[in-house]
Amino acid sequence: MAKINQNYLKLPGSYLFSTIGKKVKEFEAQNPNKQVIRLGIGDVTQPLAPSIIKALHGAVDEMGQEETFKGYAPDLGYEFLRKAISEYDYKARGCAIEPDEIFVSDGAKSDCGNIQEIFSTDNVIAVCDPVYPVYVDSNVMAGRTGVYDADQQCFNGVIYMPCDAASGFAPELPKQVPDMIYLCFPNNPTGAVMTKARLQEWVDYANKNGSVILYDSAYEAYIAEADVPHSIYECAGARTCAIECRSFSKTAGFTGLRLGYTVVPKDLKVEGTALHSLWTRRHGTKFNGAPYIVQRAGEAVYSAQGRKEIEEQIAWYMGNAKIILEGLKEAGFEVSGGVNAPYIWLKTPDNMTSWEFFDHLLTKANVVGTPGSGFGPHGEHYFRLTAFGNREKTIEAVERIKKL
Ligand code: PLP
Repeated sequence: MAKINQNYLKLPGSYLFSTIGKKVKEFEAQNPNKQVIRLGIGDVTQPLAPSIIKALHGAVDEMGQEETFKGYAPDLGYEFLRKAISEYDYKARGCAIEPDEIFVSDGAKSDCGNIQEIFSTDNVIAVCDPVYPVYVDSNVMAGRTGVYDADQQCFNGVIYMPCDAASGFAPELPKQVPDMIYLCFPNNPTGAVMTKARLQEWVDYANKNGSVILYDSAYEAYIAEADVPHSIYECAGARTCAIECRSFSKTAGFTGLRLGYTVVPKDLKVEGTALHSLWTRRHGTKFNGAPYIVQRAGEAVYSAQGRKEIEEQIAWYMGNAKIILEGLKEAGFEVSGGVNAPYIWLKTPDNMTSWEFFDHLLTKANVVGTPGSGFGPHGEHYFRLTAFGNREKTIEAVERIKKL
């Protein structure tokens, strides 16, 4: 008789975004005359840049010709893309990452969720609190955690590293040493970053203790400040303790196309085994690859014209971030983020819970955001707004919030 993976039952049933969707749908049904503005979704809205569209068309035509048709992609991804990544994302920033240390994938969500498979289920994980929920959830499914404690809003057996205003929303080095440390900077949902000096402390800590850092830099393209590293490999010694996941989603609008990659340096060993060889095995057996057409589109992101178009797109989103940040400050809110990331993190007024503020904003200003508590217990009394909206609606939403 078949048995289920009981670990899946540990995850609470109601997912953050489905609860939000349900509440908004109900509100709209009851208030058909109100125009609801969505400033909560972490998805891009700008169309793909012209260089990417051109590359997609070119690759589609290649697939229709016998001489240029492509079948299964190589396990690690096409060399043309891995070379471009190595050159522009790493060597140009002084990081010695070679093309054969890069594993192209269908997005950072898959990689962040799957990377734990090459580690023992005995390992103790540490996560920033609040953070993108995929790290905890994938470890719950793998059986690396205890049960969910509804009172504390956290899973037993996980080290939650508080990221609060006092520490600039970046965690302190944990006293109990974790085996696997998930760091996400620029952070979703807080928009916070770590300086290079601060990240260097984490690399030193991991090397000293034999921990592995799983670094998610899905939002690196939004970094504006000079002392903020784009990659963990900008820190000395990171090749022996860190894996990095990246995405083309927020960088170049690929949320619907699907493309990302993970770097596993060949020097990174656990119990004498190179993690690179384990991830190669996983890619060989459990991964279907990213389509040729999409990998050609990814290559176009690194062309001179592609980079120019994408920089303009990111600057446009960050124009929205500035409008939200300045508007909310003017309205007296305590706000952070929005400078090196498309996320603005605000403290709820009058000690409202995240969900109370969600309802308040929806019913009084008809604006939708994301309750901070959905990202971890330390997200309670906070709220996330995003810069991905349309310009006019973003301005309108800020004006409505100012009148609250
Ligand atoms: N990592 C972080 C921190 C994210 O916020 C997201 C998406 O919101 C992802 C990864 C997922 O990226 P992808 O679209 O490449 O799967």
